[in-house]
This record gives sequence, C-alpha cells and structure tokens, in this order.
Amino acid sequence: MHLAPQAIEHWLREDSPGSLARLWEKADRLRRKAVSDAVQMRGLVEISNFCRRGCGYCGLHVGNTLLPRYRMSRGEILDAANQAVAFGFGTVVLQAGEDSGIEADWLADVIATIKADTPLAVTLSLGERTEKELALWRRAGADRYLLRFETSDEKLFAAIHPSLPGERSDRLALLRKLQGLGYETGGGVLIGLPGQSYASLAQDIALFAELDLDMVGSGPFIPHPDTLLGRGQGPAPLPAEEQVPNTALMGYKVLALTRLVCPEANLPCTTALTTLNTDHGLETGLQRGANVIMLNLTPQQLRPLYQIYPDKSCVSEDPEQTWAHLHQTLLAMGRPPGIGPGGRKHPT
Ligand code: SAM
Repeated sequence: MHLAPQAIEHWLREDSPGSLARLWEKADRLRRKAVSDAVQMRGLVEISNFCRRGCGYCGLHVGNTLLPRYRMSRGEILDAANQAVAFGFGTVVLQAGEDSGIEADWLADVIATIKADTPLAVTLSLGERTEKELALWRRAGADRYLLRFETSDEKLFAAIHPSLPGERSDRLALLRKLQGLGYETGGGVLIGLPGQSYASLAQDIALFAELDLDMVGSGPFIPHPDTLLGRGQGPAPLPAEEQVPNTALMGYKVLALTRLVCPEANLPCTTALTTLNTDHGLETGLQRGANVIMLNLTPQQLRPLYQIYPDKSCVSEDPEQTWAHLHQTLLAMGRPPGIGPGGRKHPT
C-alpha cells in the first residue's frame, strides 16, 4: 500500500486507542493476506562481540573497555546451527559487531559447511564489510544480509555512527550493493534516538518501501550507560512535539506501518520490543504486523557479553524451554511455525 510520508507521520503521532486499534487491525489483515499465518523461526547466533566502530548508541563500541570480548569458534557456530535444525527452524542468523577478526575465507568456509550439512538458509548481519567479502560469502551460499540504516537523517546518522578514517559510512549504498549481489536484503532503524523527529522517522518508513527491502527489523533505542548517548553526550533531544519517544508503543506503530508499506516483507518482532514489553511483547508484535521471531541460540555463557543495551530480554533464557513454551503459544494463537527457509515471497 502506498502511504505518503505525511500520512505515515500522521499515524506515528496518533494516540487515540480507537484509531490505533484500526491501525493494528489493518496491519494484521494485510500480514495474513500477504505472508499467511505462519511465523518464520530464525536461530540467532551472536558469533562475536568485537567491534571496530565507535557507535554512540551501542554497548559493543570499540571504546567500551569494560566489556570482555569473545569470538565463537567454527565448532561452536556449527553446533548452534545444528540446534536450529533440531528445533525445526529454517534459518540461522550469524550476527556480530563489525569484527575485522572474522576473516573472510574462514567465514566462507563456515557458511559453505552449514549449507552443505543442513537445509538452513544463512542470514548474515556483520556490519559494513567490503564488496569483495560480501561477494565471497554470497558465493559460499549465504542467502540474506541484514544491515539496518539506523536513520535516514544524514546529520543524525553521522553524529551517532561516526565513519572510520578514509571510509565514509553509507549504509543505503551498501544495501543496494547487497541487492546487486543477489542477497535477500534487510534494513531497519532505531526508534526514538535523541534528535530523531517524527518527520524523519516517517521518511525512514517510506524508504523501506522505496528500497524494496525483503526484511525490515526496527526497534526502540534503549540507552546503554557506557555509550555516548547513554551518558547524554550525543545529539540533544528535540522539543517534545517533534522528538520521537523510544517506547514500545512507538515500536508497534513502526512495525504496523512497515507492514502497510511493505506487505510481503519478513518483519521480526525485535528483541528491543520484547525487552520493553516483557509480558506480551512477542504476541502483541505478531498481532501488529510481525511474522518472524529470532530465538537466541548463542551459547548461554556468552550471551551476557553481547550487551548492545542493558537487560536484553533473552539473556538468561534456556533455548529448549523457551522454544517449547513459544511453540505452544504460537499454536494457541493459530500462528504455526513456518516450514522451510521462509524467504520473502514475491506476489505471483
Ligand atoms: N554490527 C552489525 C551492524 O552494525 O549492523 C550488527 C550488529 S548491531 C549490534 C545490530 C543492531 O543492534 C544495530 O543495527 C542497532 O540498530 C541495534 N542496536 C545497537 N545498540 C542498540 C541500542 N542501544 N538500543 C537498541 N538497539 C540497538
């Protein structure tokens, strides 16, 4: 459905429960029509928390010397992928900080092994890597790549995500390169960054459709005390009538509007949303446009170290128990887990 940025902004500012109920209903109806009732399950493996970037929002930033660092071994990654298979999931997502220690040939071999030994689709989320590395991983069998552009406001982006010396950070250009390489491509933004206006967030959502993204994952910004933004030293908040709040409600509005403008896209209910709404965050997201859940399969002892923000909802969960409980919940909701890799379905 085409929505002009002005109409999107109007919805973002909407707070009447009756009107919002209509928004949730529209998003849910469109989700069912475009991507069915199936919930696509992904196994998320946080393969390294090293990062060379100095992002002002993220606890993994290079300057955070308080954080012990880890990088998973090949064997640990393959074990996690096998656990995704055992749970019946169709996709494994390998995510990390932007870690130059993840050597391109080494990862290509890990990807090729997963593709040879399992039926899994492989999604990568490893930050801004060179076109040569991205092409190598695609040839090794990687199917998808997730790279949030965080905000389309160039000034705000530069203030929270500084470029590295000699390398201008241009995530929109990189998303187009990923599409050119044949990846199913995912983007998304942070919601409620200090300095983020309603008009700018509305532009972001319109851009999801313009970029024809296959996946979109956005979540509320959650301050981390050991970051620039967490210390209140980043961009100044706007006056209240312009500043987007970093609330779960705003997260749901973005999710529902994303479904309206990108009907066939795979939309996860993100961990940031479930962190802010621990009781019914997932179920609510699934009723407001989401059709994807990422279950954390990172080895339990490493999970607290992938601390992009505090109190992440999945840190202490036991995967077996969580999946058993979640499976029951999905069946009770009439939203069975999807079968197979669960890539984007283009309309026929
Ligand atoms: N390094 C890769 C990258 O930058 O794309 C992937 C890992 S990065 C930690 C994944 C995402 O976490 C980022 O795109 C960002 O949107 C999100 N994130 C980081 N810090 C956050 C925070 N404080 N609150 C909410 N989300 C955050």
